[in-house]
Amino acid sequence: MQAARLYGPGDVRVCECRTPETGDDEILLKTSAAAICGTDLRMIANGYRGVDEDHPLTLGHEISGVIAKTGKNVRGYSEGTAVALAPNMGCGVCGRCVSGDAHLCEKYTAFGINMDGGFAEYVRIPSNAVIQGNIMALDGGVSPDTAALFEPMSCVFNGQEQARVRLNDQVLIIGAGPIGIMHALLAKAKGVERIFIRDISVERMKQCVELVKGTIAVESDNLEEAVTELTSGRLVDVCITACPSSAAQADALKVTGMNGRVLFFGGLPAGKDDVVLNTNLIHYRQLSIHGSTRANVRHYREVAKMVMAGNLDLGKLVSKTYPLSAFADAAAYAKKAEGLKTVISF
Ligand SMILES: [Zn+2]
Ligand SMILES: [Zn+2]
Repeated sequence: MQAARLYGPGDVRVCECRTPETGDDEILLKTSAAAICGTDLRMIANGYRGVDEDHPLTLGHEISGVIAKTGKNVRGYSEGTAVALAPNMGCGVCGRCVSGDAHLCEKYTAFGINMDGGFAEYVRIPSNAVIQGNIMALDGGVSPDTAALFEPMSCVFNGQEQARVRLNDQVLIIGAGPIGIMHALLAKAKGVERIFIRDISVERMKQCVELVKGTIAVESDNLEEAVTELTSGRLVDVCITACPSSAAQADALKVTGMNGRVLFFGGLPAGKDDVVLNTNLIHYRQLSIHGSTRANVRHYREVAKMVMAGNLDLGKLVSKTYPLSAFADAAAYAKKAEGLKTVISF
């Protein structure tokens, strides 16, 4: 089979390799679609620990496919079923796994991160993923490309759950890339009263307003002044940073009102992550500051249900699809950040 494999920094190759063998408790997935994520691009640019010429890694953690083969001990899944695959697995027995947060397990593993992922014609799904519910059967006519986007959306879902985004909130999202737009889509689906979007690129804000109707672009040079005016002095209830900017994190505190919640969704580049924040804003406004990372299987399934019920349209986020053989072109296109999501379609 063909796979796009990482061999080291800047060295990703589409190569012919052996179709994985699966055991009695495992499933073989025939990949239908796998989306490219910022994490993939960072792994390609910087390389990844343990990955070298002798230990290549197949990237791709935003995956959908069709079950090609089930081991003889596998229950609950059958061959030919179209599915989406949540990437994160835990050990299954630690406290975090038992409370449903396998994505925070110390022995966490994930497709395309520390085991072979979805930029390949076939993916081996090990037994812990089979029994932890990582495989989600598709219905409702969801396309494979859309199903591949359940994963980033599940991370967005987790973040908004941490920040307790609710009906009647006013929410500001800083960063109008694919993740920022996903935050706007989810907030809208939740019935959030007013959604503001902010980005250094006016074009990106426009794109968000077009895709998520009703979203309000904040175009002023002075974010604090603009938000004060737009909210008649109330400021926002929730501010989400969906960009790798320390200035955005500092700004987020300034524009969040009494009892508000701030979510640092986007990480910062290493070495730029010591940020000066006005902690008196946290104190006197009774703010809560949240982080979030990855998503658990429940988050993933909640998103899948919303999409399959027609309450969340992820399909419009797919800007371009490429065949696996053109992986280098696909990665180059994704890196330019002109479009939203780039998908490898099989
Ligand atoms: Zn991702
Ligand atoms: Zn665990």
